[in-house]
Amino acid sequence: MHYDCLIVGSGHGGAQAATSLRQNGFQGSIGILSEDRDPPYERPPLSKDYLLGGKTFDRILIRPAEFWTSRSIDLLLGHEVVKVHAKEKQVLCADGATYSYGYLIWSAGGRPRRMSCPGHDLQGIHAVRTRSDVDRLVKDLASAEGVVVVGGGYIGLEAAAALTKLGKTVTVVEAMNRVLARVAAEPLSRFYEREHRDHGVEIRLETGVDKFVGSEGRLTGVLLKDGVTLPADIAIVGIGIVPCVEPLIEAGASGENGLDVDEHCRTSLPDVFAVGDCARVKSAHGLRIESVQNAHDQATAVAKTLCGELTPYSATPWFWSNQYDLRLQTVGLSAGFDRTVVRGDPNTRSFSIVYLREGAVIALDCINSVRDYVEGRMLVERRARVSPDVLANNSIRLKSLALA
Ligand SMILES: Cc1cc2nc3c(=O)[nH]c(=O)nc-3n(C[C@H](O)[C@H](O)[C@H](O)COP(=O)(O)OP(=O)(O)OC[C@H]3O[C@@H](n4cnc5c(N)ncnc54)[C@H](O)[C@@H]3O)c2cc1C
Repeated sequence: MHYDCLIVGSGHGGAQAATSLRQNGFQGSIGILSEDRDPPYERPPLSKDYLLGGKTFDRILIRPAEFWTSRSIDLLLGHEVVKVHAKEKQVLCADGATYSYGYLIWSAGGRPRRMSCPGHDLQGIHAVRTRSDVDRLVKDLASAEGVVVVGGGYIGLEAAAALTKLGKTVTVVEAMNRVLARVAAEPLSRFYEREHRDHGVEIRLETGVDKFVGSEGRLTGVLLKDGVTLPADIAIVGIGIVPCVEPLIEAGASGENGLDVDEHCRTSLPDVFAVGDCARVKSAHGLRIESVQNAHDQATAVAKTLCGELTPYSATPWFWSNQYDLRLQTVGLSAGFDRTVVRGDPNTRSFSIVYLREGAVIALDCINSVRDYVEGRMLVERRARVSPDVLANNSIRLKSLALA
């Protein structure tokens, strides 16, 4: 079977690439080829409303089924691509199916990083990446009491908040000396640690899992490196993802932790683009960014390029996380900051953290503070230079600083 544009992956990037191609007048055939058996759905609710039962699967679909058929976008679900023949412009799936392409958009995201310690394959140990992961977890939770969450990143903390709401006894185990250490400054980490503890979550820092303990093939506890054993019916492992890029790397694409792409999301292979969690835009941030916005905007840029409007990807990153009644919104990338300013009082549960590098505002984390998020974006986009004292003064609107 041949597609003028073949998209690998039916997540946020893949779905948006197909949608945007049609919106921009692409007339050729489009196929979305995915390992996932479900039609494109939103991933963020998996650790939030969907896990809590507040949203059914229908409500997290990116588009209703008719959307894809009415736009002649073929959903080719349940096929894992295992090989790419770049010269022949062909992909081979694990089940033997082959597809040829005019353009290939690789939006295969990542798979959860797994643990390799003893007991890692016991029943009761879960990841939270796909709808079926969460369905399995929810089924298992019905008879569970103690849950250990391994990893204090956003997904682990969101899962901890949701499970606490469900009445479970939750412990978060984090190897670093604070949660969110990879992505946020210390004041934000400490704020979230306090919030989780106030909601009954136990947070254990600077330790890791030595082994998962079980009986008759099922998890019964988690032995930590500091010698403590936590009783547990369920463990959720949220220690990051490994980008799904092997078939393209084997085909000769350059990259390592993700596929290297230029500002148009082109890989080093002809007519092969990569977007979303698996792509690393060298010229922009040199990072792989894992967010819906990034996947969406890169996919949109590629679609425009394929429709004749060469479009570089240059969007300002943003991200959100919901835990309890706290809505965190971030704008910009804080990596490389050399100073932070706390704006407002964390005790009010509405405040912001401004990240600066060499005197310029590069990012904000805003907790229950939509106004700072909206107005702070202008400061980030202009790389505004504002004195820390002024930024810390919560009575001065960020908008006025951006316009000054
Ligand atoms: C639980 C959870 C909560 C999140 N919460 C937030 C949030 O609050 N805010 C936010 O901005 N971001 C959030 N994210 C991150 C966000 O969902 C991702 O950044 C986004 O989904 C990336 O889109 P993508 O298209 O690159 O990859 P994905 O959405 O992961 O899609 C990848 C697709 O590729 C398929 N695939 C993989 N390998 C192959 C292969 N070899 N052959 C065929 N198909 C393949 C997969 O089955 C999948 O369909 C969350 C992620 C998770 C898991």
